[in-house]
Amino acid sequence: MQHSATAIGIDIGGTNLRVGRVSSGGEILDWVAEPITRDPRDLLDRIVEICRRLDDETVAGIGIGVPGRVDARHRAVLSGGYIDLASASLAEDLEAALGKPVVIDNDCNMALVAEIATGAAQGYDNVVMFTIGTGIGGAVVMEGKIVRGRATAGQLGHLTVAQDGLACACGRRGCVETTSSGTALRRLIREAGLPASTVVEDLFVAEAAGDPIAGRILDTWASPLRTAIDSMVAAADPDVIVLGGGLGGAAHRALSRAPAVSPWYQCGVVAAQLGDDAGVIGAAISALVEHMMEPEATTSAPYRDVAGLGG
Ligand SMILES: [Zn+2]
Repeated sequence: MQHSATAIGIDIGGTNLRVGRVSSGGEILDWVAEPITRDPRDLLDRIVEICRRLDDETVAGIGIGVPGRVDARHRAVLSGGYIDLASASLAEDLEAALGKPVVIDNDCNMALVAEIATGAAQGYDNVVMFTIGTGIGGAVVMEGKIVRGRATAGQLGHLTVAQDGLACACGRRGCVETTSSGTALRRLIREAGLPASTVVEDLFVAEAAGDPIAGRILDTWASPLRTAIDSMVAAADPDVIVLGGGLGGAAHRALSRAPAVSPWYQCGVVAAQLGDDAGVIGAAISALVEHMMEPEATTSAPYRDVAGLGG
């Protein structure tokens, strides 16, 4: 493995397209961010142009994080959420245009790879991550590897926390995404009669000042997330749970109001550290792991080991 190798990480977000050239130590060396275009063809053109700008002889590969359900083994986007990437052969097209190997994965998997390589889960081999944003995503790493199941394991927003709860986009009821996402928080704020402009920070300030309504909203938002976390701890027995996404820090803070009850299923919960950079860093680290690890160099913790090599 070359110690000076870098990779390009691409994060296709709901609002922004972020692309960065990243060292094996997880440092972003050069980057571009711009508003996302929803047309898959235009998006590919933009990605190719930006990658050409960032590419140099140190770039060993390219990683792309995509929202939605991704079959990483077959490099296929099964459903791309708000952008119709399922119809695009993103990885193949990019590889043909740039002549560098391309890996593609779900954006939450990429974020978790980054947090393990250089963020909140550094040094751990068994990690469960919930990403709290408009919806709730998730990713699971066990014994140093992403758990994929048949293809799309880790859709933790669809853990059931209330059998008779609200209808979910997935077709079932009472998924934790319906109770503890950013969308759910906005609904709770509205139902409590608070101004629509109220943000979670306002709730923490009001609650600290003794406002019982704010406290109730935070409890109602956080306690189903605790249920989902307890279920994952029972199922997977991780070293640590990471809460990421735009509301990960707030969810971590609110969760202290709903402590784990069962002595059997206690596990530390931490807030993610890399913020908006996680997607780009994780995509690049994944590309480095995929294309630089010698086939005979078996390691039980590839994301950690690649980052450990330094930039
Ligand atoms: Zn669901």
